[in-house]
Amino acid sequence: MSHPRALSRSHSRRRLLHAVSALAGTGLLGTLVNPLVQAAALDADLPLLVEFQRLVAANRILANEGVVDAFGHVSVRHPDNPDLFVMSRSRSPALVEHGDLMEFDLEGRPLDLRGRTAYGERMIHAAIYATRPDVQSVVHHHAYGVLPFTVTDVPLRPVVHAASVIGAEIPVWDIRDDYGDTDMLVRSIDQGRNLAATLGDNTCLLMRGHGAVVVGADIQRAVLTAVYLQVNADVLLRAKGLGEPVLLSDEEIRLSAETQFSPLARPRVWEYFCQRAGVEAV
Ligand code: MN
Repeated sequence: MSHPRALSRSHSRRRLLHAVSALAGTGLLGTLVNPLVQAAALDADLPLLVEFQRLVAANRILANEGVVDAFGHVSVRHPDNPDLFVMSRSRSPALVEHGDLMEFDLEGRPLDLRGRTAYGERMIHAAIYATRPDVQSVVHHHAYGVLPFTVTDVPLRPVVHAASVIGAEIPVWDIRDDYGDTDMLVRSIDQGRNLAATLGDNTCLLMRGHGAVVVGADIQRAVLTAVYLQVNADVLLRAKGLGEPVLLSDEEIRLSAETQFSPLARPRVWEYFCQRAGVEAV
């Protein structure tokens, strides 16, 4: 249980950060509110870039939609340095705040650990950013609805248009193939590169007996794809109980994905998920 005073302090900090963030867009920051800027800089390690605010929102959304539980994580490539990425310290995504964000290089080494614990499986993110310049955001999760497709030979393929963004091909990576018996976690950069090679140019990858990885050209795309991967798995599993499901054709997948990620649809979906998660749509 958090102490009430700690809660209240955290709340004031959020309000302060929000105020600074709102002022940042006005160009008045440097002249009018220097004390606020200094306070925020002391409190939060990284600047209040939109990408980082969106990363916090992404954590909350993924938790709220049941994609991640106590485990799982989301990251973003650093907007100012493509050789770095940013993710939370080791913490349940539902609780992640701006002050939890840390920077890592593309071998998964934290720039400034300062006694914090990093996620054990950050190598998944590091290796994908290193091999996929088009990827700006990575989600790793153990969503329960997806797991049956990691342990059977039934391919996870798009069956509903909203899930077309998961892509026509979803490879399954088995850590045992090259590393034998392990605790199933991706703990080395070599294992991360091995996984990234199996992902190839695809958007999603399943990990046998473990979970999934979803990548995107930005945070919104990665998060929405992760949510709809779960939706599609759920529909496909239930449809199989009724009969043989009809899969989307490759061309249907391509056309539907364009619509789902269109400039009209994407903000609408993002705003919806932010509202459900109780976070501001940034
Ligand atoms: Mn994992």
